[in-house]
Amino acid sequence: MKVIKSEYVLSAVKPAQYPDDALPEFALAGRSNVGKSSLINCMLQRKNLARTSSKPGKTQTINFYRINDLFYFADVPGYGFAKVPKSVRNSWQKMMETYFTKRETLRGMIQLVDIRHAPSREDQQMYQFLRYLELPIMVVATKVDKISRNKWNKHAKIVKDTLQMSKEHPLILFSSTTKMGRDELWQRLEALLED
Ligand code: GDP
Repeated sequence: MKVIKSEYVLSAVKPAQYPDDALPEFALAGRSNVGKSSLINCMLQRKNLARTSSKPGKTQTINFYRINDLFYFADVPGYGFAKVPKSVRNSWQKMMETYFTKRETLRGMIQLVDIRHAPSREDQQMYQFLRYLELPIMVVATKVDKISRNKWNKHAKIVKDTLQMSKEHPLILFSSTTKMGRDELWQRLEALLED
């Protein structure tokens, strides 16, 4: 995909606020700090369109980015860190569930996990939840540049086994630093847009 135009459109906490121009959409999900903003910036070749930060939990809204006036990326809030009150965690969870179950324009999900660690319990729950929605899922293992090449296969297998990934769903090894996986992810997204 040649990205000619990419723009941040809006942030939403409830369906009435979601963009309503009916373009297809890909949702990105993963724990805080997994590299979601970096992946969006890498895909769109923008330095700072999605705000990256090492501070977990800065994104408490679903953030929508429109690409080439053709489709959206929806950046859903990162999950999985201990330092927020349970009430806040619960409201995030409700917001995510509402989004994923009600959003009719969803064309696919991108679930991010960090290649260095076995997927957490929350990663596993997220994958199972996404699976139940029966839409295409791409699992992206981020920060591949942080482990040596001879460990890629071993770590990829741990991700697949821990998530109990279906063979239907690809695992894409990705690095926002080296751009590894970028072309493969674009090819997958383009194929889904053409369906
Ligand atoms: P988010 O919270 O999921 O949006 O994560 P960010 O994109 O803000 O990334 C969290 C931290 O990981 C930042 O310090 C990034 O620079 C770093 N990071 C993200 N992706 C990569 C990657 O592919 N390789 C390396 N080496 N660092 C990354």
